[in-house]
Amino acid sequence: MNLNTKVTLFFIAIAATLLAVLVAISLYAFRSFSIASATDHIQTAGEVVRVHLTEAMINGVIDRRESFLNRMLEVRGLRSARVVRSPEVERQFGAGLNVESKPDTIERQVMAGGKPSFEVYEENGDTIFRGTIPYIATSHGTPNCLQCHQVDEGTVLGAVTMTMSIDGLRQKALATVAGITGAVTVFAILLVLLLRRLLRPISETATEVELAVQRALEGDFKAQVKQRTNDEIGQIANDMNRLLRFLDTGLNRIGMSVAKLTERTATPGENLLNATIEMVDGLSKAAHFKQAIEEDETKSEIYERLSTTLMKEFERKEFSLYEIASNKKQMKSIIVDGQAADGCRWCDPEILVRPEACRVRRTGHVVDSIDNPGICYAFQPPPDASDRRHVCFPIIQSGAVGSIVQIICAPDEEKKLQECAPLLQVYLRETAPVLETKRLMESLRDSTLRDPMTGLNNRRFLEEYVETLVAGVQRKRAHAAILMLDLDYFKMVNDTHGHDAGDAVIKSLANVLKQSVRASDLVIRYGGEEFLIILLDSSSEQAFQIAEKIRAEVEALKIQIGSIVLKKTISIGIADFPGDSSTFWQAVKFADIALYQAKETGRNRVIRFTKEMWSSDEDY
Ligand code: GH3
Ligand code: MG
Ligand code: MG
Repeated sequence: MNLNTKVTLFFIAIAATLLAVLVAISLYAFRSFSIASATDHIQTAGEVVRVHLTEAMINGVIDRRESFLNRMLEVRGLRSARVVRSPEVERQFGAGLNVESKPDTIERQVMAGGKPSFEVYEENGDTIFRGTIPYIATSHGTPNCLQCHQVDEGTVLGAVTMTMSIDGLRQKALATVAGITGAVTVFAILLVLLLRRLLRPISETATEVELAVQRALEGDFKAQVKQRTNDEIGQIANDMNRLLRFLDTGLNRIGMSVAKLTERTATPGENLLNATIEMVDGLSKAAHFKQAIEEDETKSEIYERLSTTLMKEFERKEFSLYEIASNKKQMKSIIVDGQAADGCRWCDPEILVRPEACRVRRTGHVVDSIDNPGICYAFQPPPDASDRRHVCFPIIQSGAVGSIVQIICAPDEEKKLQECAPLLQVYLRETAPVLETKRLMESLRDSTLRDPMTGLNNRRFLEEYVETLVAGVQRKRAHAAILMLDLDYFKMVNDTHGHDAGDAVIKSLANVLKQSVRASDLVIRYGGEEFLIILLDSSSEQAFQIAEKIRAEVEALKIQIGSIVLKKTISIGIADFPGDSSTFWQAVKFADIALYQAKETGRNRVIRFTKEMWSSDEDY
């Protein structure tokens, strides 16, 4: 119900109530007035009758009173008039006329009580007013009652009853009330019409503003409100239009910029406001994501976060993350369906060893089997999920496909996946440079921490790694055996066979060392022809045996250099951390001291560090 209708109804209700009250009051007033006037009439007529009867009695013409009473009936409005006598008068003068001696109930009561009685009743559709007035004997005036009647003063002599129709009065009253009602109604109608006319621009503007707001909520800001008046209402319409235009241009601009960023265009009929809010929301989340991965330390943390984002933000359960190896000859499966994995679930595992088989890797483009079913031969979903489709996105690093995100979807999710694809691309574009930097840093780091000739970790690696190593040993309350190894009389090889032959010996030795220890143990090229081996979780006895085994293997090693075969030996010193020293680097020194002892005592041997070999004032 609009404002206009409401105000109109309200006004009509008030007018109707007032009118009803007015009619009620008027009718009541007229009724009271009619009765009062009829009472007056009848009382006057009663007096006239009394005076006439008195006069008639004195003049001796009382016998003709009936004709007088009949003549009275000719008075307009009077319907009947009769006189009755009281028993006192009957006693003195007899029964009188026939009519006079038969009082009815009311007349008897009036005569008994001496009080007049008035009543209104209906008769044959006429409204009749009846008045019965007692005649009471009085000595006042001349002539007076007591001159003829032999009764006490105050005795009721008789009563006069007159009836008159008050219909005429009633008709007049009704006509007057109807007239007033009509006038008031016409006035009220005119007022309502005027009010509606005044309210119309307010009501119509309000309706249009409401419609415009409704459309705006649906993302359409094109609605305009017509300016109808030049007052505040017109101003509201004007301001509303300005606001709508401002929102329309503003949102369009934001929408276009955001759409450019997400490479997403709003579909026709789409709620512009919601779409923009959604896009801005997505962008802001992507920005947070970027900040988070920039602060991540390793590539695997980034992949982990990407996987979590796919699950939480994109509500994906089935997906794979692959990484192409730096040499581009291999592909590594990093995460499958949110779990770290090194195999394939959704693709032919051949892609791991022959990345060319992967269409994304080959083309560098998004591969979408929703639009192009069967586009990639390498996509091989398991039999229990054969209805799945895939969309694979490349993450370009250093100008080539560095990583691949493969999203799997069931048939009922295809539309949803295609809808969120642009935002996912934003995330991947943010991820690409961060992954690229991490990759470069990791390979750089690898090169600074690795000795290129032997492929072993170098002393810098140990310096960086030592903190982790010490923490691990302390946490597990374990021991680490430190083996310091040095080739015996190596200088001679260089001097006799040249530097290249020396290098070949070092490489052969490195291979022997690598093969002699477990993968969890560390072999480090510590210096030129000096090596350090850290055996984790080996008892002192076991460590000695391993060292002895290495020594024997080197002794047995035949190194072919061109046409000649070289044989070398090594000396090994052993110390235990934290058995011999609570600080790691001092334990390394102690191993070196033991090595020195091995050299001193004839080389090609393993010596374990003992406390006697070292006094604290010795300066190393
Ligand atoms: P010792 O038994 O006392 O260890 O005698 P040694 O001749 O091995 O003496 P030392 O350990 O002092 O000699 C190290 C030599 O190793 C000196 C250096 O020319 C040589 N050397 C160090 N690094 C390399 C390398 O990378 N390649 C080659 N070819 N020689 C190296
Ligand atoms: Mg040396
Ligand atoms: Mg040496």
